[in-house]
Amino acid sequence: MLIKDIFKEKTVISLEIFPPKPTSPLDTITNMLEEIKDLTPDFISITYGAGGSTKRHTVDIASMVKNKYKIEALAHLTCINSTKDEINRIFQLLKENNIENILALRGDHPDNQPINIEENQDFNYAKDLASYAKSYGGFSLGGACYPEGHLECKNTVENLHHLKEKVDNGLDFLITQLFFDNNLFYNFKEKMELLNIKVPVSAGIMPVINKKQVEKIISLTGASISPKFLKILDKYGDNPSALKEAGIAYATEQIIDLMANEVDGIHLYAMNRPEIAKSIFSSIGSIRKYAANS
Ligand code: FAD
Repeated sequence: MLIKDIFKEKTVISLEIFPPKPTSPLDTITNMLEEIKDLTPDFISITYGAGGSTKRHTVDIASMVKNKYKIEALAHLTCINSTKDEINRIFQLLKENNIENILALRGDHPDNQPINIEENQDFNYAKDLASYAKSYGGFSLGGACYPEGHLECKNTVENLHHLKEKVDNGLDFLITQLFFDNNLFYNFKEKMELLNIKVPVSAGIMPVINKKQVEKIISLTGASISPKFLKILDKYGDNPSALKEAGIAYATEQIIDLMANEVDGIHLYAMNRPEIAKSIFSSIGSIRKYAANS
């Protein structure tokens, strides 16, 4: 099913997973999927080469999600440093595997170097992939957006204009970078409305379950830690089980507030930890049912 059509029916609750590192067996992901399949998320997204994971497995895992577990799959795809021929091959593979949904992304330089923008390059920005995929046809297309601005462009107005251009090039929905203060999301949505960006937006939520994660989040995403969550980190940072419990509770509270405020969707960065997804899904079970029926 096209994800754009799921958004027409309900508040969309989705999970994000990543392929295992090349040194880990693919079984690790099968075990994870076995554990989360009964949560019946509306879709599962599979990252593409993010955080050191391999690109090769994205289509294989998306196919497993869709064809073995009968859950809708969203395959992430980055375009920077790719040619149209390479992207065509992936489109073809996705079609052969019955995968109808793509998260169209630019991606980053593997060594975190600045990206070179070159006129003769097939793709410089995600908007180029969005329009190329749109003209290829047959996919529902999502894209990334950043309530706190993108690391390379902290000017939120400029960023929003780039977002509008990307959406106008063919995106059906958006998924946000993670954030810890829902007001950032609400303000961002208001600005989107002013620019007439009208596609559904899923709020990306990542539970913080250990202290190490925090530095990584800040350096990779530029997301700010809210004063409320800083208090939690101060208090429980040195007690791993207390921090995990508090991090899951904090993310759950964010989700409940977002759902009470008519969010289009929740995208849970599940970090390949089934116990986290299970805990959150179990806490919002009735809220999810209510949202689906109202
Ligand atoms: P773009 O939309 O192209 O934006 C990139 C930058 O270019 C922004 O600063 C934007 O303002 C600027 N820009 C856009 N258009 C123009 C223009 N016309 N002129 C000048 N500047 C412009 N990375 C992975 O490698 N694999 C993944 O699977 C992955 N999944 C992700 C999922 C989500 C939900 C999110 C939020 C991010 C994900 N990323 C992933 C990270 C993403 O690749 C990086 O954030 C990357 O730096 C930007 O990608 P983008 O698609 O947002 O790019």
